[in-house]
Amino acid sequence: MTATRVLVLNSGSSSVKYQLLDMGDGSRLAAGLVERIGERTSRLKHSPLAAGGDERETTGPIADHEAALKAVAQELAEDGLGLDSPELAAIGHRVVHGGKRFTRPTVVDDAVLAEIERLIPVAPLHNPANLTGIRTAQELRPDLPQVAVFDTAFHTTMPEAAARYAIDVETADKHRVRRYGFHGTSHAYVSREAARLLGRDPGDVNLIVLHLGNGASASAVEGGRCVDTSMGLTPLEGLVMGTRSGDVDPAVIFHLARVGGMSTDEIDTLLNKRSGLVGLCGDNDMREIRRRIDEGGEDAARARLAFDIYIHRLRKYIGAYYAVLGRVDAVVFTAGVGENSAPVREAAVAGLEGLGLAVDDGLNAARSGGPRLISPPDARVAVAVVPTDEELEIANQTYALVRDGGA
Ligand code: ADP
Repeated sequence: MTATRVLVLNSGSSSVKYQLLDMGDGSRLAAGLVERIGERTSRLKHSPLAAGGDERETTGPIADHEAALKAVAQELAEDGLGLDSPELAAIGHRVVHGGKRFTRPTVVDDAVLAEIERLIPVAPLHNPANLTGIRTAQELRPDLPQVAVFDTAFHTTMPEAAARYAIDVETADKHRVRRYGFHGTSHAYVSREAARLLGRDPGDVNLIVLHLGNGASASAVEGGRCVDTSMGLTPLEGLVMGTRSGDVDPAVIFHLARVGGMSTDEIDTLLNKRSGLVGLCGDNDMREIRRRIDEGGEDAARARLAFDIYIHRLRKYIGAYYAVLGRVDAVVFTAGVGENSAPVREAAVAGLEGLGLAVDDGLNAARSGGPRLISPPDARVAVAVVPTDEELEIANQTYALVRDGGA
């Protein structure tokens, strides 16, 4: 029997998201999420997609990632999809930071684990959880290839001119301070799917990809290779996000420390958790912000300001990446906001006819789950909505590696 199943694990600091896919026919067999690991009120939600039936939800204490993965394995076993199955080909792990070294998905061995660990100082929130996920999966199935798929990998093609900050080179290199970029799995998947939608070879098209979720990033993709992206050393730089500020003058930090008396940790929390849309208007959900604007009244003003700042930054990046690329074939929207918010898409390109950009109101307003064009048929530059699927991309990359004998 050929092993064609891939389990995808996305281990966060207090959560694990998972999907089991069959790469033989591309079907999704099961999916779920463990939340609030380490608390008394941990929750496991499991969707038995192939086995059928309702979503199962269990609450109760789940002490750590090991217990969480064991609980997931048990749920899968209940559906007849246990991790001991010979049909399981590999486990694919999302790893947030791969530094400069990991330019592609990699089968995990001790040296790879050590390198992911060495990168903890530049990804203190993410890499430790990713490592725990990998180690626990290794314990559960020591014989199985574990594949690390890095959020940074797609961006390792950035030229030095885009990847370096203009700070003292020795200091930067000593502390590995450079622009790495994130959401790479999504940018890779979406740019390939966008080329397919345009009926063109990925190597022939130049794209501006806008991944607008709770976290948000833009990238400039030239012939399938990333040449610039808006996130940097960490996922804080760039666009206005749900709770993150995106770009600020770095001197804001010195000012808050010296004049505001805030500690480094307090400023870190401010910029990562209490800024962006939530800091500007109290809501980080674009649906809620649009509702407040549409209902008008006093409550609308702050929501409107948050929306305007979000859009202003987005338009600056579209303009910047237009200049980086020189020629643009399509602007592509993806992730929660990008796929669902017609007002964001409309405002992002409004008045940019001079750059060949426009949306057709009817096409923009239409709802659809699949990739689609929303620009008028005669537009010089296409505007597209392409739903992202990071789990599928991780599964594809994992399976391609183990099938081709990389393991
Ligand atoms: P992440 O993976 O970064 O957590 P998602 O890509 O799932 O985020 O995006 C989540 C965000 O998408 C929500 O916070 C919300 O702002 C936005 N969103 C989801 N659905 C809609 C919708 N129908 N209209 C507008 N925004 C939406």
